[in-house]
Amino acid sequence: MKFSDIPSHEEVKSALRNMVNSGQIPHAILLEGPAGIGKFAMARALAQYIQCTDRDANGDSCGKCKSCLLHQSLNHIDVTYVFPVVKLDSMKSAPVSDDFLAEWNDFFKSKVYLDINAWSATFSKKNAQPVTYVTESASLIHKLAFTTHISSQRIVLWWLPERMNEEAANKLLKLIEEPYENTIFIMVSDSPQEILPTIYSRVQRINMKRLPDDIITDNLMTSHPELSRQNAMALAHISNGSMIAAERHFEWSGESTEFLDLFMQLMRLAYQRKIKELRSWANNLADMNRDKQMRFYDYTMHMIRENFILNYHVPELTYLNSAESNFSVKFSPYINERNVERLMTVFNNAKTDISGNGNSKIINLDVAIKVILLLK
Ligand SMILES: [Zn+2]
Repeated sequence: MKFSDIPSHEEVKSALRNMVNSGQIPHAILLEGPAGIGKFAMARALAQYIQCTDRDANGDSCGKCKSCLLHQSLNHIDVTYVFPVVKLDSMKSAPVSDDFLAEWNDFFKSKVYLDINAWSATFSKKNAQPVTYVTESASLIHKLAFTTHISSQRIVLWWLPERMNEEAANKLLKLIEEPYENTIFIMVSDSPQEILPTIYSRVQRINMKRLPDDIITDNLMTSHPELSRQNAMALAHISNGSMIAAERHFEWSGESTEFLDLFMQLMRLAYQRKIKELRSWANNLADMNRDKQMRFYDYTMHMIRENFILNYHVPELTYLNSAESNFSVKFSPYINERNVERLMTVFNNAKTDISGNGNSKIINLDVAIKVILLLK
């Protein structure tokens, strides 16, 4: 991965380049910022740049020297990857990153934007929550004790250190406080506030910002050539600068018309207190599979939030498509500070109950009845 393979983030590239060129590379660097903006790709590009033996005049790795070729084929012996993993039922003890190295290489090799949900889905265990176990520390300490082979520095590329428990963090803290000579930790975090303060306070932090909408638009049009520029721009607009969110919105875009229709029915019938019709609304929704019902409740929370903002007359802050805007012009006055939080709670609880295999018909009807009371 070269810096030039990563769209945008020119200021960060320049800062990293200067850090390396001046010979002032900290022992532990943290690239922090929202998910889906290319932080891990930046960490890889930085590692490749540090270890390149023939950096080019533009401030990038050459892509051709032995070190670069090994980086690009994921075979660099002086690069160690740490990433969250899942203890499978077949495992007797807690796993380490290396137990899933083949899957990991496959997952990230050609990607600029990494998604923890997509990584979770590669494990055979359902609803798995990958974490870094305490066993990782022994494995890492063992590896770092060896001398480097090809480069003068060993680099640890660490994806999501926030997914590490306190016990693991305490064992690893020593490595960061008293680093092995010529070892550089490059960490990448989506939620730096969840990293234990003992670790967080000892790293050189570099903030990466959301992607501009035009970069997301271009990316979407490359990955989905059938998308028109206008539709790609609309998706980019609601994705908060995250390429992962943009892809998710693309997947859902076929559903949004259907969800808007269901949302409008719910609000109209609840306002008119039509219990019988609300019962069939609840049953229709319950006919969808659970994942889709959960996405519908995500959609309702999005609509409530946007209508609340619209009600406060800051339309430039809302992310609604034209059909949603048409409905919301009249609907938004019903969403205000008296009911907004309670409505969000009702929808969020419904989502949780549905994910927990509750009876969807009962849950959805319960939502409808609560909405009647909250729209008064
Ligand atoms: Zn090179």
